[in-house]
This record gives sequence, C-alpha cells and structure tokens, in this order.
Amino acid sequence: MAEKACKQCKTIFTGSKCPKCGSEEFSDSYKGKIVILNPEQSEIAKNLKFNEKGSYAIKTG
Ligand SMILES: [Zn+2]
Repeated sequence: MAEKACKQCKTIFTGSKCPKCGSEEFSDSYKGKIVILNPEQSEIAKNLKFNEKGSYAIKTG
C-alpha cells in the first residue's frame, strides 16, 4: 500500500486515515521524508514542530 502524508500533522502513514490526528485529508505526493526518533533531542524536530516520534513529510503536495 502506498504511503501518504497527513495534511494536518504531516505524519506519513498507510491506510484510510491518519493514525495520529484522525484526519482524512492527506496527500500522496509529499516531498521529503524525515524519521524522528528522539523528538526531545532533535533540533530538526523542534524546528518543524514534530513532538512525537514517527515518520513525517517535510512538505505535503
Ligand atoms: Zn495527522
């Protein structure tokens, strides 16, 4: 199943809706993928406001 990115929180997931925020608005043409393992210790996570670990899209299409 193709991965897609939530337009609300930018979580990358497979399935019919976002497992994190429950949104059904998503894009399958997202750009860039970032995996956050330690949000507290990651400057990138802070800059992009990703507070939980997971896979995120940098930009949704
Ligand atoms: Zn979401």
